[in-house]
Amino acid sequence: MYDTSPCHLMMTTESCTVLFFLARMGTRKKVHAFVRVKPTDDFAHEMIKYGDDNKSIDIHIKKDLQKGVVNNKQTDWSFKLDGVLHNASQDLVYETVAKDVVAQALDGYNGTIMCYGQTGAGKTYTMTGTTENYKHRGILPRALQQVFRMIEERPTHAITVRVSYLEIYNESLFDLLSTLPCVGPSVTPMTIVENPQGVFIKGLSVHLTSQEEDAFSLLFEGETNRIIASHTMNKNSSRSHCIFTIYVEAHSRTLSDEKYITSKINLVDLAGSERLKKSGSEGRVLKEATYINKSLSFLEQAIIALGDQKRDHIPFRQCKLTHALKDSLGGNCNMVLLTNIYGEASQLEETLSSLRFASRMKLVTTEPAINEKYDAERMVKNLEKELALLKQELAIHDSLANRTLVNYDPMDEIQIAEINSQVRRYLEGTLDEIDIINLRQIQEVFNQFRVVLSQQEQEVELTLRRKYTLIDKNDFAAISAVQKAGLMDVDGHLVGEPDGQGFGLGVTPFSAKPGKKAKSKKMFKEQLSTSARKEGASSPVGGKDLDFSTSKTQLTPSSKEGDVKDMLMRDRETSSTEPLPLDSPKEELRPPRPSTPPPKPVAFEDFKNERGSEINRIFKENKSILNERRKRASETTQRINAIKREMDMTKEALNFQKSLREKQGEYENKGLMIIDEEEFLLILKLKDLKKQYRTEYQDLRDLKAEIQYCQHLVDQCRHRLLMEFDIWYNESFFIPEDIQVSLKPGSSIRPGMVPISRIVSLHNYLKTMMGFQQAHRK
Ligand code: ADP
Ligand code: MG
Repeated sequence: MYDTSPCHLMMTTESCTVLFFLARMGTRKKVHAFVRVKPTDDFAHEMIKYGDDNKSIDIHIKKDLQKGVVNNKQTDWSFKLDGVLHNASQDLVYETVAKDVVAQALDGYNGTIMCYGQTGAGKTYTMTGTTENYKHRGILPRALQQVFRMIEERPTHAITVRVSYLEIYNESLFDLLSTLPCVGPSVTPMTIVENPQGVFIKGLSVHLTSQEEDAFSLLFEGETNRIIASHTMNKNSSRSHCIFTIYVEAHSRTLSDEKYITSKINLVDLAGSERLKKSGSEGRVLKEATYINKSLSFLEQAIIALGDQKRDHIPFRQCKLTHALKDSLGGNCNMVLLTNIYGEASQLEETLSSLRFASRMKLVTTEPAINEKYDAERMVKNLEKELALLKQELAIHDSLANRTLVNYDPMDEIQIAEINSQVRRYLEGTLDEIDIINLRQIQEVFNQFRVVLSQQEQEVELTLRRKYTLIDKNDFAAISAVQKAGLMDVDGHLVGEPDGQGFGLGVTPFSAKPGKKAKSKKMFKEQLSTSARKEGASSPVGGKDLDFSTSKTQLTPSSKEGDVKDMLMRDRETSSTEPLPLDSPKEELRPPRPSTPPPKPVAFEDFKNERGSEINRIFKENKSILNERRKRASETTQRINAIKREMDMTKEALNFQKSLREKQGEYENKGLMIIDEEEFLLILKLKDLKKQYRTEYQDLRDLKAEIQYCQHLVDQCRHRLLMEFDIWYNESFFIPEDIQVSLKPGSSIRPGMVPISRIVSLHNYLKTMMGFQQAHRK
């Protein structure tokens, strides 16, 4: 029996969804191969034996009969199949072979049933049956019957059935239903067309059938046409392939269901598979046999390729049969092959050949899947419904959250312009925040940020272009021309501009984003100044070198202060095992404060050895790296200039060579210029120099970036050093010690946060007050 998957048995509307998912998981199936033996009084009992399970056939050939058999060494064959139908009624054949395939077609699976075998073995009998006897009707009428019965059992679905009947004879396509009055005369021959929905035959008439009787009458029409054609067109009916197709389309009757399924059942009566005898065939018979042999072997190739998961190309287009059945063979459809054989000894050779074909097909795997489609109109309706519901839901949420008057509609031009203006004001700093209203508005804000940014970039570029001549850094010719004119040094800086601080001639950076560079520079400066402001620095940061000449507190230095401090440090270290009394803070160990503070330059030296030693070390380190990089940059610049000079010289020499060549007369060979060795070497040299130039230039560029970075570090360190020094200086010489207690780590005020003048005046004020109070008490 044909495999019945559990999901297939669930036929209700609800279970359809479950069924879809199961199908999509890709259960692999084998092609089902059955054998039907044509009843005969002369059955070769000694040669053909069936297995007990009715699923295998053993063939034995007596030695003396062997002569005619292709393989004349072997005498025994065994074939494993899905079922052997011997003396089986048409009814049983249908139940075994076709019933499940047809049932699954109504669930959206394509199905193909093919009859294969030599002429006269019973293919047409199996597929169509005898038209005069109802009992002997074949798979075709029974399948139509089953389809219409199942439709009746499914009132939940609107199912339409269409049929077509195609004949392929000698690689030509014939419509067996073209004689119907509803089909107009076809002008162009039929063609096989592929589109994303599948394969269809252009020009083949497809007939809607609303009831069983209509379908039967179409079937008879086709059968009759097939027989007539075999006479009028000298066409041997057993030499053509016939494909009767039932197309099913099932829409759920519930309006909300936008999914619908389509499927095809192909019932194929193949042409006789008998081999061409070596002698005797000629003319029409030979031509027919050649076409048949070819198409059957292409059919086999295509099905085998379909079963091979490693194959990505399936040779469908090799013949009309496989091309027309492209979406119904193997792959995602249920496939059954029924091989019709004779039971007589005289036909054993063809029987063996047919059984071999059947057992090869049995190995092929397929992965049946549902053909699910979406009804666009229903889908839009459902989405509209869903949208309206969500809007209502949102309105409820807003009213609960007291967010009234929030509009969720798409923004109009005025609203977008307003957001653009908000973004601009925000960037300028005139607007502190952009209020968040809803997702759409947030998206638009981001969008407008992009708009404004790109506009500003363009503006900056335009301004730069108006003001400067931009030269591509890779355009060495242009650069050297500018250098020659004495406008720019080899670094791309304006001549006379120290240390590359000037804007230069406007050599376009590689990123070609002049705006960005300018911006980041500005931002960095701003950061520096804000951080300086935040930290309350009062140090002379501006100058490159530390300069205390402007210090207001020019006082005489206290002698040996440094020594005292050093000693103190040592004392602290050695006495660390002895716990200090709780009420005596470490600061008490400080040496007595000099009556007059030392001059700042002297104190600074002390500071660098003491609290500022670490930051001073880093400062020095960065400075030395900076100097080293500067040195390297200047060396590289010199090298570049040297290379440049050499390049100029080489160019001159080349020009000279060229003029020489021109004077002597040029040689040409097949359009190629002949040059002498000297000129050739010069070219090589120039190329090499150019390469060197580029490497050095790249190095220089990297160095410049490093220098810039190091410079920032040095500046930051310098700033930090001075700031720390100021704090230290005030702490050490100005801030009264009792006030320092409240400035210690952990308290809310840090030295440096309050200007020293304030602290001192506050101290004096407190002292006066206390004196006053004491005096008052007395
Ligand atoms: P094919 O289509 O393979 O060339 P047919 O189906 O035309 O062969 O069969 C040839 C003849 O044998 C027909 O007259 C048909 O009725 C008869 N026949 C084939 N198979 C059976 C069967 N299983 N029972 C009875 N008659 C059969
Ligand atoms: Mg036939």
